[in-house]
Amino acid sequence: MTGILRVPIECAMCGVMVEPASALLLPGKEKKYGCYGCYKSTQERTKQKESEGKISYLCDRCHYKFKSHTASCPYCNKGDKVRSAVVTVHDLL
Ligand SMILES: [Zn+2]
Ligand SMILES: [Zn+2]
Repeated sequence: MTGILRVPIECAMCGVMVEPASALLLPGKEKKYGCYGCYKSTQERTKQKESEGKISYLCDRCHYKFKSHTASCPYCNKGDKVRSAVVTVHDLL
């Protein structure tokens, strides 16, 4: 037999053997393949990371709203007056 390799691929995450046709390239620096379940969970995790990583902040000193990974105002370069900006009815009034 020639041609297509039909050796199952081991999922890099859970170790389950996956058919080459259904193995999916996992996101990351290394080229790793995984089963559909693990692929889905990594996708969800990266999505979560993105939304978790950046938090809306508000600097009370500059009244500057920004999204950042760190609670430090890009305007005054300080973080002592920075608080997470949760938009409430109060803020809209
Ligand atoms: Zn897996
Ligand atoms: Zn500031």
